[in-house]
Amino acid sequence: MSAPGPKQSRILIGLVLGAIVGCLVNYLFVPPAVPGAPPAIPNWLKTINENVAQPIGQIFLRLLFVTVVPLVFASLAVGVSQIGGMGAVGRVGAKTLGYFLLTAAIGATIGLTLVNAVQPGVGLSDESRQQLEKQYGGEASKKQPANYTVMTFVESMLPRNPVKAAADLEMLGIITFALLVGIGITKLDKPKAEAMTRFLESVGELMVFIIQWAMVIAPVGVFCLIFTTTSQLGFGLLKLLGGYVAVVVVGLAIQGLVVFPILVKVLGGRNPIWFFSNARTSIITAFSTSSSNATLPTNIRTAEDRFGVPPRIAAFVLPLGATMCMAGTALFEGVTVLFLAQVLGVTLDLASQVIVVVLCVLTAVGAAGVPGGSIPLLMTVLASRGIPPESIALILGVDRILDMCRTTVNNIGDLSAVLFVARSEGALGEPKAESSPK
Ligand code: ASP
Repeated sequence: MSAPGPKQSRILIGLVLGAIVGCLVNYLFVPPAVPGAPPAIPNWLKTINENVAQPIGQIFLRLLFVTVVPLVFASLAVGVSQIGGMGAVGRVGAKTLGYFLLTAAIGATIGLTLVNAVQPGVGLSDESRQQLEKQYGGEASKKQPANYTVMTFVESMLPRNPVKAAADLEMLGIITFALLVGIGITKLDKPKAEAMTRFLESVGELMVFIIQWAMVIAPVGVFCLIFTTTSQLGFGLLKLLGGYVAVVVVGLAIQGLVVFPILVKVLGGRNPIWFFSNARTSIITAFSTSSSNATLPTNIRTAEDRFGVPPRIAAFVLPLGATMCMAGTALFEGVTVLFLAQVLGVTLDLASQVIVVVLCVLTAVGAAGVPGGSIPLLMTVLASRGIPPESIALILGVDRILDMCRTTVNNIGDLSAVLFVARSEGALGEPKAESSPK
């Protein structure tokens, strides 16, 4: 299921240029925000963003998104059917899920520890708070949290109608259905099982062609996505929420550049520098799209072509990871819950914070791998701790930037998980397209 990649350096250039040009345009042409008023973006910039940059960015993003449901379904079903009987699926599944939960718990704990130490919410002035509430309060009320109960969990895990789940991009439901189909294939007569597997493999390979087309325009698409964000956002909000943003970013850096590299070395048996240099395209795609799902096709290629992970393991671990492996999201949620508690003067004792860690892990596993996918679930965590969910408005303005960073860490987690599972199954082969030492 692999395809030749784009020139990684060209995508990186698109990313850096987009950020530089966007920040420059913002600095030169967007006046600093007046307290209480929406950001005064000039009309010509709005026109360029709405008619050129956003559409081109969306073409790139949607060419990736359009492949996600067929790719997750086909690759997971084939992966499960090839891993072997229920016992083997259970063993690999347990390792995979255990890794996801453990790394998310580490992420949430790092986040809470940092926010307790730095206390970024304590210093935020009343005036800043009111300004942020005015600007983003409306958006927050649009994002109503669903009431998360055992029943909603069952409903999201087991859809009544898989086609509807696919249409609504409910990935947990699609994952369960794919697991059932994959296990079912192992029970079919040999000719039927082979026909089914061949069909699903063809679907996967077909999606790769579409992904290849997306990657042709990736440098321009990435430029446009980053330009749209940076040209509108600039640095104003980052200054207002500086402490909070810094805590999230430092936490993510610890998780992405210290914790995961250690796991790559110890559990994946690979040199972290080799890991990062071969994961470049995936990491850039995650950063620029803010979507684990949109990064899935690139991840499968990275794992198979560059890491030497066999397709049956990549096809099993990575689709699960795109929805469930979200250490960066768990960390971000932990910091945000405590930050907002500090701002609003809600005290969370140690026991409450332990519950926050557990909730962050569970909601991160359940969050959709799309831009802002964790926000509705995060609102339920806030509500459960007595923090008004509307207070999310305070941080929505900087969420896009933080989403780019946490999705990158989620993605590093996905790739480290696939290395670990492949190695623990004794299946980590020689990479096909190798660079630098292992
Ligand atoms: N954008 C994240 C992802 O796709 C999910 C989130 O934290 O909102 O991994």
